[in-house]
Amino acid sequence: MLDYVDLEADLDAEERLIRDTAREFVEEKVRPDIGDHWIAGTFPTELIEEMGELGFYAPNLDGYDLPNVSETAYGILMQELEACDSGLRSMASVQGALVMYPIHSYGSEAQKDKWLEAMGRGEKIGCFGLTEPNHGSNPSAMETHAEADGDGYVLNGTKTWITNSPLADVAVVWAKDHTSEDDPVRGFLVETDRDGVETPKIDEKLSLRASITGQIELSNVHVPEENVLPGVEGMKGPLSCLTQARFGIAWGAVGAARNCFETAREYATDRDQFGKPIGSFQLQQEKLAEMATQITTSQLLVHRLTELKERGDLRPEQVSMAKRNNVRMARDQSRIAREMLGGNGITADYSPMRHMANLETVYTYEGTHDIHSLIIGHDLTGIPAFQ
Ligand code: FAD
Repeated sequence: MLDYVDLEADLDAEERLIRDTAREFVEEKVRPDIGDHWIAGTFPTELIEEMGELGFYAPNLDGYDLPNVSETAYGILMQELEACDSGLRSMASVQGALVMYPIHSYGSEAQKDKWLEAMGRGEKIGCFGLTEPNHGSNPSAMETHAEADGDGYVLNGTKTWITNSPLADVAVVWAKDHTSEDDPVRGFLVETDRDGVETPKIDEKLSLRASITGQIELSNVHVPEENVLPGVEGMKGPLSCLTQARFGIAWGAVGAARNCFETAREYATDRDQFGKPIGSFQLQQEKLAEMATQITTSQLLVHRLTELKERGDLRPEQVSMAKRNNVRMARDQSRIAREMLGGNGITADYSPMRHMANLETVYTYEGTHDIHSLIIGHDLTGIPAFQ
């Protein structure tokens, strides 16, 4: 596997073990069928609990039977999962960074006891409802709202593009609390079997096909007061979750690019044209050299970010830079890898075009490339250019 500047030398025993466990799981259990799942538009749901047993959901959190591994180990896990498919990494990202993280950080003891161990084992599945049909890049304009109702709240609104909503037992729904004076955004834990909740699947996606995506329709849904996340108010709630998930995406995208590179390198040495391997031609070598360089510089960026995260110094704007750079890098390099495979490259027998299609979603979700440019621009100039 490409590791041009020997980053492996700095990994400790636990980090190597997690990498090897994830790699073995992916190669044995997922990679053989992932092309079929992608074409069918299905996720290998029978593996959800096994992923929990292996500690793939929020392993960097502590307590509640969670592994509490280093941020490097967490990043490497995301990298190995996405080397197989962005949909597989999305499953772990949503469950861990977008659902378990807010319950862990902002939940009551009762909420933590109810959900964290069960979600860590993959026995319960969560989803994260922020985006709405009319509000994607600007979620603070959300229309979903909560009104007081006796012992709790009544929720109304529609969330869309929600990873795993059709499979989920619980949704973290971000909604405006109309009972408070300035309508703060609050997080509500909404069990999907409550009256008035529908989670229809979105079909006909041409990207991230091996991941189930749906809506959350809330029609006069009653939730008791104890389902509100007590520890956070305002956009800080959802945005802090997104920072966690974007950190994992910055790592994961490198995995997708690395798998495209490895596939192209192998193909270039096996495939003969004009009486010799295509990898002996200078044009193909230049493509491999560029791919390896781009992947290596992206790896270095996430390793540095991880050091900052470990010592508590990581800023969201730095995560934006890594998400923006590494996903663009992976999207560009997957296309070069596809090109090197010629006609075979457009089939699901090889990974690059599947990765390339998936990366269109990864480029768009968790803040589009444009939105991360604006976040970095704001940080660099002090001038917000969003409106
Ligand atoms: P829009 O916000 O309408 O943007 C359209 C275009 O306009 C983009 O190119 C954007 O960059 C650009 N644009 C917008 N504003 C500006 C501006 N100020 N300046 C310059 N350009 C701008 N959401 C969840 O809440 N939970 C999930 O689990 C989830 N999973 C997803 C899974 C998939 C497969 C997909 C495709 C999306 C998912 N999303 C999820 C939603 C995702 O986060 C949004 O699609 C994303 O935030 C962009 O919103 P939008 O699609 O409404 O695009």
